[in-house]
Order: sequence, then C-alpha cells, then structure tokens
Amino acid sequence: MSSDLIGALIDTCAAAIVTHAEELTQLDAAIGDGDHGLNMKRGFDAIVATRSELCALSLEDALQKAGMTLVMKVGGASGPLYGSALMAMGKSAGGARDKLQAAVDAVKARGKSDAGEKTMLDVLVPVLDALADGADCQRLRGVATDSVAATRDMLATKGRASFLGERSIGHIDPGARSSCLLVHAVCDVVGAPQ
Ligand code: ADP
Ligand code: MG
Repeated sequence: MSSDLIGALIDTCAAAIVTHAEELTQLDAAIGDGDHGLNMKRGFDAIVATRSELCALSLEDALQKAGMTLVMKVGGASGPLYGSALMAMGKSAGGARDKLQAAVDAVKARGKSDAGEKTMLDVLVPVLDALADGADCQRLRGVATDSVAATRDMLATKGRASFLGERSIGHIDPGARSSCLLVHAVCDVVGAPQ
C-alpha cells in the first residue's frame, strides 16, 4: 500500500508540474528570471527517474530522498526550499498536518521568510492553517487556489521578485502557483486529510 501511495504521489505531482511548466515559467518571467517551470520540471524529472527506488522505501525515507534530489538537481531558490520541505516532511513521523507543519517550518528557516512576503509560503501557510482547522481536501484545494490569487496584490520582499519592489505588485507569485499545484496533486491522491 505504501509503495502504491508513493508511486501515485510521484506520478501525480510530476504530471502537475510538467503540465504547467510553461505557465510557471511565464509567471516567473514577469517578476523573476523565467526559470521556475524549468527548475521544477528538472527536479520532478529527477524524482521520477528514481521512482522504483523511492517506492521501495517507507513514505518518510522516500520524502527525505526525494528532497535531497531536489536540493541537488534544482538550481535557483526553489530547489533548496522545496528540497528542505520534503526532507523535513520525511523527518516528521506524524500525519499530514505534522508533515506540512514541518515543511512550512523548513521553508521559513531556509528562506528566512514568512507568510505575507509573496512566496510559496503564502499558499503553504494558509493550507496548513486550514488543515489544522480540520478542512477536507476539497476545502484545501479551494484555500490553495484562493491563496495563489491573493499573491497578486502582495509586495515581494523575498527572492528575485523583491528586486522589483513595487513593480512586483500585480503579478502572481510563481512559487505560490507551484505550491498550489502540488497541494491539488497530493489531495487528488490522498483524497482527505489523514
Ligand atoms: P529563482 O528565484 O532562484 O530563479 P525559482 O524561480 O525556481 O528560483 O523560484 C522562485 C520562487 O521561489 C518564488 O516565486 C518564491 O515563491 C520562492 N522563493 C524565493 N525566495 C524565497 C524565500 N526566501 N522564501 C520562500 N520562498 C521563496
Ligand atoms: Mg526564477
């Protein structure tokens, strides 16, 4: 069962990223350097390449290994950030809520960032809050989608977009969008919070 779950998580997350790589790159072209889709695709291609190895591991060990792959294979800010998030999830022995809490803590620590700075945390934190409130997957999907839209009016104070200052306002954050895609993908697999 665990092996099927890991395989489904890999396939669904990778498909979501590959399908939306061009969109992520376009979002990043507006307020960054236009590589977010490419970075994410490179990372998930590398994870897919280790699929059979990952499926032989516990969920926790698979998360840690996939996280290391992202850190090693993905340049840019997002590789180390998502990589640390997955590694922290793998180190957490708890359920979905504890794992997402660990991921958020890891991104905050690695990125020296918090919600409200127009980054992936502006999706991950509201989704964590909703999960802590007992939201089901349908609700979590909605929170993630709404949170991406809310980054449009935010001022970027972390990452490349912060170099634009006020000109970052009016654009959706690419990392928030990729986090939303991953939340939707995980929800598609697990169906309901555990
Ligand atoms: P780079 O900015 O190095 O080109 P990417 O384009 O792959 O890397 O990723 C950019 C995304 O990473 C941003 O849209 C933002 O969501 C996220 N990000 C950047 N810096 C931080 C940070 N310090 N904390 C949290 N997220 C960040
Ligand atoms: Mg970029």
